[in-house]
Amino acid sequence: MAHRKPNLPEKICAACGRAFAWRKKWARDWEQVRYCSDACRDGRHPAARARRRGGQATGQE
Ligand SMILES: [Zn+2]
Repeated sequence: MAHRKPNLPEKICAACGRAFAWRKKWARDWEQVRYCSDACRDGRHPAARARRRGGQATGQE
């Protein structure tokens, strides 16, 4: 039989847009977690910069 999948909640990272699963380190404040990693939280993720608005004006969009 198929092994049981861990039934962990997931969220979408507000910076990189990828889904990430619950981790034990977030047990206390999962409700407040918005980013999959410290890099995303700090805005160091390349994708995070691309998605962020109000930074550099590209003249597009
Ligand atoms: Zn992320």
